[in-house]
Amino acid sequence: MPTLLADLTTLRLGGPAARVESATTTEQLVDLVRAADATGEPVLLVGGGSNLVVADAGWDGVVILVRTATFDVLGSRDSLIVDAEAGVVWDDLVAHSVRAGWSGLAAMSGIPGLTGATPIQNVGAYGSEVADLIVGLHVLDRSTGEVEKWPPERCGFGFRTSAFKHTDRYVVLRVAFELTTSPVAPPVRYLELARRLGIEPGDTAPSAQVREVVLELRGSKGMLLDPSDHDTWSVGSFFVNPVVPRELVPDGCPNWVVDDQLKLSAAWLIEQAGFHKGYGRGNVTLSTKHTLALTNRGGATTEELLAVARVIRDGVEARFGIRLRPEAHLVGVEL
Ligand SMILES: Cc1cc2nc3c(=O)[nH]c(=O)nc-3n(C[C@H](O)[C@H](O)[C@H](O)COP(=O)(O)OP(=O)(O)OC[C@H]3O[C@@H](n4cnc5c(N)ncnc54)[C@H](O)[C@@H]3O)c2cc1C
Repeated sequence: MPTLLADLTTLRLGGPAARVESATTTEQLVDLVRAADATGEPVLLVGGGSNLVVADAGWDGVVILVRTATFDVLGSRDSLIVDAEAGVVWDDLVAHSVRAGWSGLAAMSGIPGLTGATPIQNVGAYGSEVADLIVGLHVLDRSTGEVEKWPPERCGFGFRTSAFKHTDRYVVLRVAFELTTSPVAPPVRYLELARRLGIEPGDTAPSAQVREVVLELRGSKGMLLDPSDHDTWSVGSFFVNPVVPRELVPDGCPNWVVDDQLKLSAAWLIEQAGFHKGYGRGNVTLSTKHTLALTNRGGATTEELLAVARVIRDGVEARFGIRLRPEAHLVGVEL
């Protein structure tokens, strides 16, 4: 029986893979990718499968599961570098850092997936993003077959994007984060989180408390994986919050300054265009807890999911003239 991508993705969608390999060491990961590239076999890297929308037809090539799992810690008294292999489960790393009294990652608790995928879209939540902490990466450049050491300046990090985002040229092998040695998390900038912690924005709180509150908040929004809860059978936010010039901001739309433009709440745009929580057709609906997550209620197909996504994208564009783009990696399909 071929492996289905549906069994490897949090949306539980996607057809069969022609071949599946698992890499448990970085050397294996490099060798598997190089070998496939030498014969021209298409490669799909899969970490936690939490940002992948794969065609019902599946993947006609090799799926390489990133299952490397170790990290090194290089410390001094006040700060330390955590250098993690790509396959380290992200939230395990965050939990470990909080227990160990390392400050920096707590606000990114509960984000699904693996560490190697975090630089791809500069993962972030509640006012933090990995670009704030990444100090270096090891990357396989598939165009040369060489492993390179990249400084963060080379990564082109932006809001939910990087030099790795719209290309399959690079394989992230290791990611190094600089953390500080302290039980206190960095200042909390995100209003809702600060309010729930009972502090003012810009104040600090213990990392353990930040983690606890973030996990609670995420759980209440269906943003923590739970196999028994269809609201979490998703890729998290399906659409990216659009960044637009000032004159395009609709009246009343929550927005945040990004360089000289404004980032808008995609959830607000979707709501105001008439698509409310739970909206959908058949086996695909918006989450009942979060307007930005498209969910598989069980038995859905990728085509069904995309059909609903198109109705929402077109509805928002007709109402506001703003075109939403998908955040996840679409494989073998287009929106
Ligand atoms: C319930 C839920 C909540 C979420 N909340 C957030 C959130 O708060 N913030 C946020 O930013 N994201 C969020 N996401 C999205 C997702 O969790 C992140 O993008 C995560 O980093 C994806 O990791 P992954 O290992 O699952 O990647 P996968 O889905 O396995 O892969 C994603 C893409 O990266 C590529 N890739 C994977 N590993 C590597 C590698 N080592 N080198 C090169 N390419 C690679 C894959 O080929 C694919 O194109 C959420 C998703 C879900 C389901």
